[in-house]
Amino acid sequence: EQGGQKQEFQAEVGRLMDIIINSLYSKKEIFLRELISNASDALDKIRFLSLTDPKVLGEGDQSKLEIRIEADKEAGTISISDTGIGMTREDLMNNLGTIAKSGTSSFLEKMAKEGDMNLIGQFGVGFYSVYLVADSVTVVTKHNDDDQHVWVSQADASFTVAKDPRGNTLGRGTKITMKVKEDATEFLEEDQLRTLIKRYSEFINFPIYLQTTKTEEVEVPDEDAEKKDEEKKDEEKKEEKKDEDDVDVSDVEEEDESKEDKDKPKTKKVKKTSKEWELVNDTKAIWVRSPSDVKDDEYNNFFKSLTKEFDDPLDKIHFTAEGEIQFRSILFIPKKAPSDLFDKLQTKQNNLRLYVRRVFISDEFDDLMPRYLSFIRGVVDSEDLPLNVSREMLQQSRVLKVIKKKLVSKALDMMKKLSEAEENAIEAEEEEDKEEEDKAKAEAAGKEEKKEEDKEEEEEEGESEDGEEAIKKYKDFHESFGKAIKLGIIEDTKNRKKLAKLLRFESTRTKDGETVSLSRYVKRMKEGQKHIYYIAGDSKKDLEASPFLEKLKKRGYEVIFMTDPIDEYAVQHMDEYEDHKLMNAAKEDLKFGDKEEKKEKKRREKAKENLKDLIEWYKKLLGDKVEKLVISNRLTTSPMAVVTGTYGYTANMERLMKAQAL
Ligand code: ADP
Ligand code: MG
Repeated sequence: EQGGQKQEFQAEVGRLMDIIINSLYSKKEIFLRELISNASDALDKIRFLSLTDPKVLGEGDQSKLEIRIEADKEAGTISISDTGIGMTREDLMNNLGTIAKSGTSSFLEKMAKEGDMNLIGQFGVGFYSVYLVADSVTVVTKHNDDDQHVWVSQADASFTVAKDPRGNTLGRGTKITMKVKEDATEFLEEDQLRTLIKRYSEFINFPIYLQTTKTEEVEVPDEDAEKKDEEKKDEEKKEEKKDEDDVDVSDVEEEDESKEDKDKPKTKKVKKTSKEWELVNDTKAIWVRSPSDVKDDEYNNFFKSLTKEFDDPLDKIHFTAEGEIQFRSILFIPKKAPSDLFDKLQTKQNNLRLYVRRVFISDEFDDLMPRYLSFIRGVVDSEDLPLNVSREMLQQSRVLKVIKKKLVSKALDMMKKLSEAEENAIEAEEEEDKEEEDKAKAEAAGKEEKKEEDKEEEEEEGESEDGEEAIKKYKDFHESFGKAIKLGIIEDTKNRKKLAKLLRFESTRTKDGETVSLSRYVKRMKEGQKHIYYIAGDSKKDLEASPFLEKLKKRGYEVIFMTDPIDEYAVQHMDEYEDHKLMNAAKEDLKFGDKEEKKEKKRREKAKENLKDLIEWYKKLLGDKVEKLVISNRLTTSPMAVVTGTYGYTANMERLMKAQAL
């Protein structure tokens, strides 16, 4: 297969390349982020294998796990090499070109709509971002299980793969060389490269070296003066050269310093250039640092590099677990849920990266978080787990169970804080509104006390800004992950109480866009109200018109609207909240347990007597279309309503079951 046969890119990959090549996207630099991230992944893979079999690392340079980046201005190329796992011939064919991954088409779709090239890494097609800056790409790669191969593509919808005629020069790993396009030559500049590598390698746990060129002026002896000793020196120089592999001395002689020359040699100044490898990144993991030393910006950037997300996270928690089992962790709540969050929750995805003493082990553990919390992203670094243990063994390890429990409790803490901040902000707002109202009243009554209040108002302004932020933050959180919390209520018996505090609902008392928590509902319950009332249905608007609300409205009781399909399932798993029963207003035996109810009971008995004939007549008319006909106390203005029996499904449940074919 010398020269390699031309292969066509799979059609979708071809289309993807077209889009990228012709993209007007200005942040072309992201290609470097993607290539560094791929190199780092490849290094993680070989390091993981080496845990059980150290021999896979080999000897010499290839045993050092690192990334090297160099630019050649004359040739117009940038290369990035790693000593990672490498690719076999088959890997090359599969990973770079022929088989379209599912990511390709979803990325194409997304690009057609919003067109944010920055997201390319999320779709598993980051490699192709090289075509933002390159018009031809060469990948040389050596995997332990195969000979070294070369993949070449000219950005013309075809590529070649061939065995490398130079042999296995890499030892192990991958070297990607890009011929830079004319409008991207800025990336050949050392300073530019250094800045970008710094930006995109901040959280890479392998050293990244950039090749730099040093130019120095040095004084060297004048040629003529040294002519006599030429032959002798030539020999000595050869020896020296061996030690100075990368040093390129302009064609002048060097002074032989070892020789003590009595008569002063004539010298001249020349420029000497040499290549050096400069370590660009700091490989100390961010989670190992003390939280007080890490700036918000650093957390945000870490989150972005970890998740390939574009937005900052909504919140984070960074902690060290001490005691019998030690680990460090940073957990994040993303700002937005993926559009297919619910499917993802069902299939359970793990979004935590597990490290053991700084060595990346896996991001595919099922057992670090319960599935309802799988939207949490982050890292866990254990001190106790053995490095060279199989995944199956890890799965059953007691250490892992302890870690899981702690992670869940920390994740819930983080959400609790968000939730409480929102509730406090709302309370403060309400108080403020009330004060203003009182003031307005007082002013109207002509008793104003002006001066002092001006100052106070200013202070409150600042507070309410924070408050607004807290409210907005929680709203975002609940909109994105409310469903996950409800799934948690169904599945996580132990944490049900904590989770219930995180719920928010619209109600008969919330204004548009507002919600209420169960705690606030309970706080503002009417005197004498015993239970929490809810009603489930399609939308607030529909439910507001429900005849089931009449009696409750008359009493001035707040009724929660459950408009999310999962609400009614979740609520079945929580009989009560803070000792108040949750009552479905659409069920037959609606109980109030208050004084009013006793009065009503009497009235109803009277009505039963009076309406006996009417009931008989209706019974004949409706036959077995209904289970029974009763005089009810639940209506005030509507003459009659069809309700669900205590043990029957509500109309809303029936609607849901039909929709989901449960
Ligand atoms: P992703 O990294 O999300 O899988 P990419 O398009 O960035 O998607 O890379 C595609 C695949 O190509 C990788 O999954 C990996 O198998 C392979 N690959 C890319 N770069 C390297 C590399 N430096 N070493 C080994 N394999 C690589
Ligand atoms: Mg990638």
